[in-house]
Amino acid sequence: MHEKSIAELATALKDGEVSSVELTAHYLRRIETLDDAINAYVTVTGEQAMEAAKAADEARAQGNAGPLTGVPIAHKDIFCTEGTRTSCGSKMLDNFIAPYDATVVARFKAAGCPILGKTNMDEFAMGSSNETSYYGPVKNPWDTERVPGGSSGGSAAVVAGRLAPGATGTDTGGSIRQPAALNGVTGIKPTYGRVSRWGMIAFASSLDQGGPMARTAEDCALMLNVMAGFDQRDSTSIQRPDEDFTKRLNTPVKGLRIGLPKQFFGEGMDAGVARVVDEAIAHYKGLGAEFVEVDLPHSDLSVAAYYVVAPAECSSNLARFDGVRYGYRCEDPKDLLDLYMRSRGEGFGPEVKRRIMVGTYALSAGYFDAYYLKAQKIRRLIAEDFATAFKDVDVILGPTAPSTAFRLGEKTDDPVTMYLSDTYTIAVNLAGLPAMSLPAGFSDGLPVGLQLIGNYFEEARLLGVAHQYQLGTEWCRMAPGGFE
Ligand code: GLN
Repeated sequence: MHEKSIAELATALKDGEVSSVELTAHYLRRIETLDDAINAYVTVTGEQAMEAAKAADEARAQGNAGPLTGVPIAHKDIFCTEGTRTSCGSKMLDNFIAPYDATVVARFKAAGCPILGKTNMDEFAMGSSNETSYYGPVKNPWDTERVPGGSSGGSAAVVAGRLAPGATGTDTGGSIRQPAALNGVTGIKPTYGRVSRWGMIAFASSLDQGGPMARTAEDCALMLNVMAGFDQRDSTSIQRPDEDFTKRLNTPVKGLRIGLPKQFFGEGMDAGVARVVDEAIAHYKGLGAEFVEVDLPHSDLSVAAYYVVAPAECSSNLARFDGVRYGYRCEDPKDLLDLYMRSRGEGFGPEVKRRIMVGTYALSAGYFDAYYLKAQKIRRLIAEDFATAFKDVDVILGPTAPSTAFRLGEKTDDPVTMYLSDTYTIAVNLAGLPAMSLPAGFSDGLPVGLQLIGNYFEEARLLGVAHQYQLGTEWCRMAPGGFE
């Protein structure tokens, strides 16, 4: 059963080939035997999953099933789940039982999807390797000595390891796409505002966006149909009529104009990644797509701008973790100041502290104009670069990450090298555009991801372009050894 995609599972459930109870129990057994090797789940919610599966089977028997009723999924541990620990990968929230469901979680519950558990992640979604998690690093199922990417590394690894058919993720600077690439799965970061952020623990609010991770573009489209939609509890949620994200899956790519940013094809990309991207370009040419070079002149500034804007926003968002209202509280505080200082000092890990310090500095009275304001201006220029490019092309194509999965510990001592893992993904968040990563091949036995970037609200087009590729290639169907 676990070799099936979400679309195939939905059909099997509909045809009565399998029940949700059988399917959910099967995944829970796989988690029990296989997750120890990769540490991808922080919490497994087996009992609740089985209850939800029973309810899904009953709903189906009564003729009340929707498209995904009975398909179990996992949630990144950044989404609040009522009655279940929501840790955000941090000691700070190790004892936090969310009192309500995030909108995304509520939507999947309403769609009848049992929750298998909560997936491991970088602490407060800050990282590109999952090594900043309080619960220890996730290991890449393709090679357990290597990182799964981050911050949604747990979600990517459970999909790659067939420990869930699909999982939710969040992407502030690449955290859906980069781990999708490193694990050989498909993931999409929607247009900013498409998916509600309500109940999704905030890192950098103007960049954060939730999205689905699954094996195929078709599966991502089915999940996005559940996740996306206006939510009045999120003030940046976009008011647009609901859309069927599967509507362009069968649109041929013949005549599609694909832009290749010249800045993405210079130095910095590993030879193996470059070869795979070239092969994907050749595949699309074979399908009749046309390629045009595009210029994104400010893209080399995106990592620098992001590492001012994101820390600035996080320093403000994380002020709420003060040891008073919820989360970790230090032992025997002397007075209020001691309570604040020790609760935060003991509750947060080093990467989170580094970001809070950088952000607080950038926002301070003497430096605001020099750093924060400047970064915001660069952000605008980056968005304008894309707007100009999209006058000439329908989608933009490039690598997702400069290399395949690196070794655990390889970049932990050098934050700047780690930050460069997101060099191809970050500009998209600064501009608020939708983008996805899909598996496109292997280099030395490790998966390589291909990135597709679309204009605002063009998720359906992106998913169609990816689906057309996946119809003619096998990459998205391959499983890591030991997890087949
Ligand atoms: N790796 C980037 C960071 O550490 C992006 C993280 C994310 O998208 N959540 O900020």
